[in-house]
Amino acid sequence: MLRILVATDGSPHAIGAAKLAARFVRELREADVMLVNVGHIPNIALGSAGVGIVNLGALEEALQQAGRTVLEKTAEALAGVDARVRRIYRQGDPAGEIINAAEEHNADLIIMGSRGLGQVGGLILGSVSERVLHGAYGPVLIVR
Ligand code: ATP
Ligand code: MG
Repeated sequence: MLRILVATDGSPHAIGAAKLAARFVRELREADVMLVNVGHIPNIALGSAGVGIVNLGALEEALQQAGRTVLEKTAEALAGVDARVRRIYRQGDPAGEIINAAEEHNADLIIMGSRGLGQVGGLILGSVSERVLHGAYGPVLIVR
């Protein structure tokens, strides 16, 4: 049983990662897929010295709702595969939470995109994929 974690922000690269995971699952005898989305609250939204400048509860709820949509869309790439596909939403630092989720769920492999929703062009790797590649305890497959 191979446990595959697909990190997704809903970007075309992340959907590409999910499609590759679907291909792997079709070739494997047994597999388990975890789709992970991390809702990130930027520091600026938390304000300084504990004085929030936004309604944190509302922001958390909106992020979770957005995460659900992203997981839904990503799951479509795995429609019909013969494997359990779990959807996991976490809140926090995206790279750190992807690594933690991989640990907690004993993932054998992390698959993710080289780029995401970020607007800065020209980079080979986005910051999340670079940090997961540096910090993960197991293999990471970057889809470009
Ligand atoms: P940056 O975020 O550094 O501006 P970027 O958005 O182009 O650049 P990344 O965010 O590193 O690049 O995205 C690369 C891959 O990381 C995505 O294709 C996706 O697989 C994963 N990823 C990025 N953000 C998240 C997230 N919030 N939750 C889950 N996976 C994510
Ligand atoms: Mg990004």
